[in-house]
Amino acid sequence: MPVNVPKFLTHRPLERCRVTQPYGVDWTNGQLPLPGGGQGGYSSLGLKAHNGVDFSLYPHGSGTPVFAPCDGRVEVDPVAASSGYGLNVRLFRKLGPQPDGSGLEAELVFGHLQEVRKTGEVKAGDLIALGDSTGISTGPHLHFGLRFRRWTAGGSGPYFLDYDNGFFGYVDPMPFFSADPTLLPVDCRYGLPEGARGYSDVEWYKVAAWLWFTMKRLPTTREKNALVWGRWDWRSLNDPSMFATWTEMTKMEWMKRTKK
Ligand SMILES: [Zn+2]
Repeated sequence: MPVNVPKFLTHRPLERCRVTQPYGVDWTNGQLPLPGGGQGGYSSLGLKAHNGVDFSLYPHGSGTPVFAPCDGRVEVDPVAASSGYGLNVRLFRKLGPQPDGSGLEAELVFGHLQEVRKTGEVKAGDLIALGDSTGISTGPHLHFGLRFRRWTAGGSGPYFLDYDNGFFGYVDPMPFFSADPTLLPVDCRYGLPEGARGYSDVEWYKVAAWLWFTMKRLPTTREKNALVWGRWDWRSLNDPSMFATWTEMTKMEWMKRTKK
């Protein structure tokens, strides 16, 4: 891993960043539509697990604006049409020289787009694209990926950093978001390493066991998100009149709203 990387993502990529699938998990239930036909999970794509973070296109769905989270240079992926990311752009951001004199650059991926709005040099917060569900996708969302490329002190490269990490070099982008709460939405902060997840492991297993014994099934992705990221409890999830609420907002947001 790079040793000298600041929290360079200072702006949110969407107006609201609701995480529907974090990095390093596989919540697809093997239902990704594969390029050769059929369905599978991330292992079918040569990945250990999900190689980025998925944000729902809340609340606008397809056509939701996507913003540059940092200054950099935006390029349309030339193989977009055949890529699992569908129409996608890459944002390249030069990072400061490393202690050993090598050069480092971050490559951000914005996947499953509808339309590209800006390429070339961009500033943090610029509208760069509109989101959608193109490529290998099960519904409208933004796939947000990050990996690094380096040049040696002698100038050769670029080489992808940790390309053999089981994720083609992609790492969890969440730790690179600025912790400035004025620039980030609530849901982005859940993924930061210093932020607590909604459920401890013990609580999580209790809930999964409860669901298994009472309903004879495992939690869906949506339920997991509501539990882990939205901090909802099972009682709310199983109350039909609460469905629109727990799928649309976190429990904190709901409590704030009902106070008014
Ligand atoms: Zn994704």
